[in-house]
Amino acid sequence: MKTYPQSRLDLTKSDILSEEYIKRFWSKIEKTENCWLWNFSLDGMGYGSFVIFKNKEYKTARASRMSFYLTNGPIPDGMCVCHSCDNPKCVRPDHLWLGTRSQNSKDMAQKGRNPTLLKSEEILGEDHPRATLKNCEVALIKKLFSHNLSQTFIAKMFKTTKHTIFRIKHGHQWGHVSSL
Ligand SMILES: [Zn+2]
Repeated sequence: MKTYPQSRLDLTKSDILSEEYIKRFWSKIEKTENCWLWNFSLDGMGYGSFVIFKNKEYKTARASRMSFYLTNGPIPDGMCVCHSCDNPKCVRPDHLWLGTRSQNSKDMAQKGRNPTLLKSEEILGEDHPRATLKNCEVALIKKLFSHNLSQTFIAKMFKTTKHTIFRIKHGHQWGHVSSL
């Protein structure tokens, strides 16, 4: 049996897929009332996996990344597509958000996917407060309020001040960003 090379689809570039493959992608989805489930192969982590075969080569991409790509355009190098619904099989565009690797780890830790991370220095370290937060971080912070975490704890997680968290909580700042 012949084996073909396999690599990742480069989702940092635009227009990498033909109309046919785009249609094929959206045909592999089962829409439930809440999440849209990838109904094809899964990778070792339980995430949906999209595969194309072109020029004698297999190209794969995580189905959730593919969905984000097709909806929003190229994904900046090194950024993660995260699930607000915590369902690795879900590819529903409004359940996906773009975050950094560390935001993704924090998010997973918060949801109990990797509890050891909560104890790591990365999150609880005494770094200097950062001047600014990103929209996606504020959206996550707002979501965390509903988990009854203390403002001090959330401030440490995002390397910001308790004052900033207080202002977000009471709508004095970042009112234009809604919770995840
Ligand atoms: Zn979902």
